[in-house]
Amino acid sequence: MTMTLPLFASFEDITMSYDTLHDLLIAELQDIHSAETQLLAALPLMVKHATTTELSEAFTTHLADTRQQVDRLVKIFTTLGVTPKGDTCKGMQGVLAEAAETLKKKGDPLVIDAAIIGAAQRVEHYEIAAYTSAIALAKSMKHTDVVKHLEASLAEEQSASELLTSIGDSKVLAKAPGMPTAGSKSR
Ligand code: FE
Ligand code: ZN
Ligand code: FE
Repeated sequence: MTMTLPLFASFEDITMSYDTLHDLLIAELQDIHSAETQLLAALPLMVKHATTTELSEAFTTHLADTRQQVDRLVKIFTTLGVTPKGDTCKGMQGVLAEAAETLKKKGDPLVIDAAIIGAAQRVEHYEIAAYTSAIALAKSMKHTDVVKHLEASLAEEQSASELLTSIGDSKVLAKAPGMPTAGSKSR
């Protein structure tokens, strides 16, 4: 029996060959640019659908961060003399498709906020992985300027994730239905 991997069925849009680490760095930066651009379109919906004020505000702040992150990438592309246009980031597409499903859910607003936080953590951790890999590449090639910009963005992703955790703990999970009370079982 032959197995087909649906993800690898259409590769027609992937043109670049990886001959040097520089080729890979550029492809990774273009992938991150695609991811950030997709997130720019999604964050306003997360602002709108979050019920907890602090959560909604965190998304507004991260929207501003994300605009800056796109600007940093554009600066990097200018420095390297390449175009930001590459393949669509399929990972972010998938993570955001899940987030969109979460936003459509009906139910208790705080339980939905808890779900939105989970979706947003998937976004942040995906970005953290992408920036960490690109930084390692840029460092190995001694692209000091590129490293500096990418590290600034990585720090924002990490603090966004930490903020989501703390809002979840203090404002959402502590108040949402389903927390066990003393002497009762959780349900
Ligand atoms: Fe980002
Ligand atoms: Zn990607
Ligand atoms: Fe982010």
